[in-house]
Amino acid sequence: MKTIENITLYVCEHCKRKMQRKHAMLLHEQHCGKNPKNWSACSGCAFMKEGQTEIYYQNPDGESKSYAKTFHCEKFNKDLYPYKVVRKGLLEKYPESFDGMEQMPTTCEGWNWTK
Ligand SMILES: [Zn+2]
Repeated sequence: MKTIENITLYVCEHCKRKMQRKHAMLLHEQHCGKNPKNWSACSGCAFMKEGQTEIYYQNPDGESKSYAKTFHCEKFNKDLYPYKVVRKGLLEKYPESFDGMEQMPTTCEGWNWTK
């Protein structure tokens, strides 16, 4: 058996996950599902309707089409994209696919479980 002593562990402030590499932890904290910055105020809300946006990208055979999940808020009449879109870098790669949309809020005063 081996015991490793005196190592530095980095602990996530949000979910308490531990890592040995600082860089990896910084990246994790940024995307951690328990980080309040990544919360979605929309989950469970009755005004939220799922939708999708088309993403066009180039591949060796030409142009291809893909879809990303988006949401429409019936309360405030807004189209929203989830944090996942930011995390996956889709927003930078395909800004036109998310034109006129906003990122889902982390808090919302219009949230309701029923309409
Ligand atoms: Zn975490």
